[in-house]
Amino acid sequence: MPELPEVETTRRGIAPHLQGQRVTRVIVRDRRLRWPIPEDLDARLSGQRIVEVQRRAKYLLINAEVGTLICHLGMSGNLRLVPADQPPLKHEHVDIELESGMALRYTDPRRFGAMLWSTDPHAHDLLKSLGPEPLTDLFDGERLYALSRGRVMAIKPFIMDNAVVVGVGNIYATEALFAAGIDPRREAGGVSRARYLRLALEIKRILANAIERGGTTLRDFIGGDGQPGYFQQELFAYGRGGEPCKVCGRALREVRLGQRASVFCGTCQK
Ligand code: ZN
Repeated sequence: MPELPEVETTRRGIAPHLQGQRVTRVIVRDRRLRWPIPEDLDARLSGQRIVEVQRRAKYLLINAEVGTLICHLGMSGNLRLVPADQPPLKHEHVDIELESGMALRYTDPRRFGAMLWSTDPHAHDLLKSLGPEPLTDLFDGERLYALSRGRVMAIKPFIMDNAVVVGVGNIYATEALFAAGIDPRREAGGVSRARYLRLALEIKRILANAIERGGTTLRDFIGGDGQPGYFQQELFAYGRGGEPCKVCGRALREVRLGQRASVFCGTCQK
């Protein structure tokens, strides 16, 4: 599933090819994403220039002169630039054709993604209640500490709550808790300020590092029929249940927290 770093890498990959371009046509071959793609998307977007491509949480905001296309990649979606006359393959549901002769093509085999139109995206129901971006100063350990007081839920689902901070999916929550030495089962309200300060720094470091690694895949957003690659990063805990801890050598444990597999080291994480 695309996580925040992949979505940010997508933004960086497609933005230079979209900004300043006029949309000549929108072709929707299958409207049935998580919500139906609006019937009038072609009428609204065609003829307009794309001003900017932004990201909010895992939503891409393609801002036209009037209105914004809100895109979410869901479980399996991707966006890339192809020559507009390149024949579509199965699962390539949408083309946004540009005056450059290229098209922004949306592919999504599982169709859990979204492509919606809004004239006020930040007030849209999907975006209006989102917490701060993790890589901004609006997010820090003081916020985690303050919001966690009185919370009896485990710390891992707490930091994955989009109202607390956006973009901390299972991979990054697992890795940040390992790096901060915090047991993911620990009650959120019982973790000290000092440990939350450390945890917030680890969340920022790990996400920033993943985005930096994504930079090497930017060329994958143009041409070809493959998917933009997910970047390799060294994982200490995620997906490694039963394998030896890279720090202490003992077997990593796996439990379920908030319906998610959670791997941790019973020795290094307290
Ligand atoms: Zn360990």
